[in-house]
Amino acid sequence: MGLLEFDGEPLTWEKLKPYVEHVKTHGIQQFLHNYRRLMQRPGDILKWGDEVEYMIIKFDHTNRKVQLSLRGEELCEILQEKEKKKMKNLTSLWRPEYASYMVEGTPGVPYMGYMAQFNVVEANMKMRRKEVQELLNDDEQIVSLTVFPRLGCIDFTYPPHKITGPESNPVSRSLFFPDEAITSHPRFPLLTQNIRLRRGKKIAINIPIFKDTNTPSPFVENLNDPESKAAAKPDHIYMDCMGFGMGNSCLQLTFQACNVEEAKLLYDHLAPVCPIMLALSAASPLYKGYISDIDARWQVIAASVDDRTNEEMGNEPLKNNKHVIQKSRYDSIDSFLSSNSKIFNDINLEVDEEVKSTLLNAGIDDLLAQHIAHLWIRDPLTLFSKKIDLDDENEADHFENIQSTNWQSMRFKPPPPGSSIGWRVEFRVCEAQLTDFENAAFVVFIVLLTRVILTYKLDFLMPISKVDTNMEKSQKNNAILTEKFHFRKNVMTSQSPACCAQLCSFKSNCTEGSANEIPPPDLSECCSEMTIDTIINGKEDEFPGFIPLIRRYLDSVEVGVEARCSISEYLNLIGKRASGEYMSAAQWIRHFVTSHPEYKHDSVVSDSIAYDLLVHCDQIEKGTVKCHQLFGMPRHKSEYIPAKKDLPNGI
Ligand code: ADP
Ligand code: MG
Ligand code: MG
Ligand code: MG
Ligand code: MG
Repeated sequence: MGLLEFDGEPLTWEKLKPYVEHVKTHGIQQFLHNYRRLMQRPGDILKWGDEVEYMIIKFDHTNRKVQLSLRGEELCEILQEKEKKKMKNLTSLWRPEYASYMVEGTPGVPYMGYMAQFNVVEANMKMRRKEVQELLNDDEQIVSLTVFPRLGCIDFTYPPHKITGPESNPVSRSLFFPDEAITSHPRFPLLTQNIRLRRGKKIAINIPIFKDTNTPSPFVENLNDPESKAAAKPDHIYMDCMGFGMGNSCLQLTFQACNVEEAKLLYDHLAPVCPIMLALSAASPLYKGYISDIDARWQVIAASVDDRTNEEMGNEPLKNNKHVIQKSRYDSIDSFLSSNSKIFNDINLEVDEEVKSTLLNAGIDDLLAQHIAHLWIRDPLTLFSKKIDLDDENEADHFENIQSTNWQSMRFKPPPPGSSIGWRVEFRVCEAQLTDFENAAFVVFIVLLTRVILTYKLDFLMPISKVDTNMEKSQKNNAILTEKFHFRKNVMTSQSPACCAQLCSFKSNCTEGSANEIPPPDLSECCSEMTIDTIINGKEDEFPGFIPLIRRYLDSVEVGVEARCSISEYLNLIGKRASGEYMSAAQWIRHFVTSHPEYKHDSVVSDSIAYDLLVHCDQIEKGTVKCHQLFGMPRHKSEYIPAKKDLPNGI
């Protein structure tokens, strides 16, 4: 997304409603103009880039308290100065994010090609962090933390904002998250308010609590608001607004494909990888000052922007709405796009039939038409009074309006009109890791995986309903070690080269890939349930493994010594997280809290425990403390600081 612009009055839901069809119809026209112009766009090169969302925290060392500092917007203004002056060759670009304690940073220009760029990823992330840190006060710190452990607890922001009831926060009506913590750019409060108004009630997020020995049973929160009381489930952590999801940080990656067909291919074959990477990157076990029984934020963020009405939820007969809709507008994708994938689209897809026939009549292929028509079951959530009548041939705001508020695991991004940018896909599930090293490792791993998929013509397709089952599994407490995931048994196709066949040469019941061939009648035969360890590291006679495939691929290309060194460290990290030799961020955080001497085994993450945790995270990021649970034993003994000395209770 470019610099956030707006024009005119932000329209609240009642005022926006009369324009819903206008935005949808023109959005489709904008897509078609763009598509006609760009479908034949040939030969773009690989470009890619990451997005990291950061939070600004403030330590009160005297009282052992940590808060979120609401300075994101102010910092973003400064961080964007060079870009606004149209200066070239910037190291980084900055965007405001949903919460006013957040900023989002990307490299200044996308990376081109790959091998030479692999050292640059981590270095660039380090520069970004430094750039922000230099603007901070001594007691403030930039962190790449997925969820702030005490988000929504009393005084969790600095400055603090007192909440006496839902009326304290006219935008969200939250009992916990002050409207002041929402970035003031009108897009964000408008989204928040309109989602609530469209939905007809407050957001309700219920996450199972981790039941410890002293946790009350049933665990019931004391809530001073009838709406919240009715929505909160026993034995769950209850959260009541968009900020609990969109106020979390993640790590995203965008790739430019060489053409529209390659973009579809990447979109499809990366979709089954999403739950695997969500489990591996899981970093968020703590919510609202409690330990939860999940490790990853996905279902929290999905519920945090769920604008479906009672009718759309299927709780009331359809009267004012058109569809019963299975998922929130923030969730995993529901259909594949490339022509071979058709039979794997086994989810019942709600589509806007009118949009679908408009697209089909305009010559769009049925899978892409279906995809767009599925996105178009959602209404626009924001609109500005001076941005209603647009030039459909040269603008894409109405298209982007609906496209960009379908927050799915993968995003298929058509080229923006009037730019040199090509067809892109975005990989959106990863949780933010504590350190630049880990974030770079995930980024490089996924970029390499795309090269392997394309070069070896691998096939990861499987029934998309099974990808959803995997998404559910991937968020569970310790999913990496306790869950098995559906994955395609035979990833080779008839076009895969012989060098890759060696790795894949085990017996399988599956036919030789789906590319150009008739798949087996029983779709579920195509995959089997595997551990993350098997999927990532491979297992003889079962699955070749992403890392062995990547290594094989690296042997065949030229990589400089330095890049090879970094890649090797990254693959080591990912491989050992997958095997359980190293802990995931989520398991480590969970472990830190439950072993803290002040923890009372009541599932509560107190101010001082959260403080110790974040001081520790900060030291790990700075490298002043080595954490062998996360990274293994350092190679040089002198680097190793015994964990006992640094961690409470010797964890
Ligand atoms: P959004 O928030 O809509 O996902 P951003 O602009 O924040 O998009 O981030 C897009 C990412 O894509 C950045 O990492 C950027 O470096 C990268 N990028 C920009 N241009 C291209 C391109 N032509 N091809 C691939 N990636 C690109
Ligand atoms: Mg972005
Ligand atoms: Mg973002
Ligand atoms: Mg207030
Ligand atoms: Mg993005």
